[in-house]
Amino acid sequence: MVAVTTVTRFAPSPNGPLHLGHAFAAIVAHDRAMRDGGAFMLRIEDIDGARSRPELAGEFREDLRWLGLAWRETPPQSTRLTAYRAALESLRERGLVYRCTCTRAEIAAAAGAPGPDGPVYPGTCRHNAPSPDAPAVWRLDIARATAIAGPLTWHDERRGLQPGRPELFGDVVLWRKDAPASYHLAATLDDAADGVTVVTRGADLFAATHVHRLLQALLGLPVPVWHHHPVLVEADGRKLAKRRGAPSLADRRHSGESGTAVAQALRAARFDTGISLSEYVDREP
Ligand code: GLU
Ligand code: ZN
Repeated sequence: MVAVTTVTRFAPSPNGPLHLGHAFAAIVAHDRAMRDGGAFMLRIEDIDGARSRPELAGEFREDLRWLGLAWRETPPQSTRLTAYRAALESLRERGLVYRCTCTRAEIAAAAGAPGPDGPVYPGTCRHNAPSPDAPAVWRLDIARATAIAGPLTWHDERRGLQPGRPELFGDVVLWRKDAPASYHLAATLDDAADGVTVVTRGADLFAATHVHRLLQALLGLPVPVWHHHPVLVEADGRKLAKRRGAPSLADRRHSGESGTAVAQALRAARFDTGISLSEYVDREP
């Protein structure tokens, strides 16, 4: 019998420097794996086209080292495009995805029902196939996909058993114009390929898990458990963000602050002034 060990990961996108919120996410993933004597992995999610700055990955490693974390590194997303394409192809052969050429403005004008990620796509291109030459994204046909997959459930370590509700998002984009796979497809495939058994991430991504669970069912992937942790928010309740002035971990590192002291403070939920934890329930459908 193969012993199943706990495997977690921290999966930052090199779109900007890491800040305290990322440190908290990394520590949650790290400590969750260590609790079981398991493995903690770092995966660089570097397929975000123009926004991706690969040189930041080196800084991320410095940040994790500074926090006192040890990790195993998995291949970055940019090396996994063949697997993403194969998965899309398998869904396409089964008629579960379709091309969509709608612009952001067209989708906004159609004013679909509100979803966790903005208005739900109204299905325009599902009814009317666009011209084959136009640049297009690929969307998952949620109604067909859920009909094939049947009712699904998933387990969150903090909130218990969840009935799958992928329809909340409508027909999500699985393949983009400007980047290869979307977050939903890439992250789901990577977590399976990396043998992740406990997917830890911020509660702001709680609803996305419904889509990931459906993709696992469609693609025959193993099903992990999830651990959606609270996220660090500023006094106004919004998620911490570099663009709103949260100092980066690199800034703190360079100013001579102790990384292990920062890590201990985060573990004890002692935050900088104005910062607190939120379960992000307001963002949930
Ligand atoms: N790259 C994603 C982010 O930085 C990872 C989310 C996840 O852990 O699934 O938000
Ligand atoms: Zn469309």
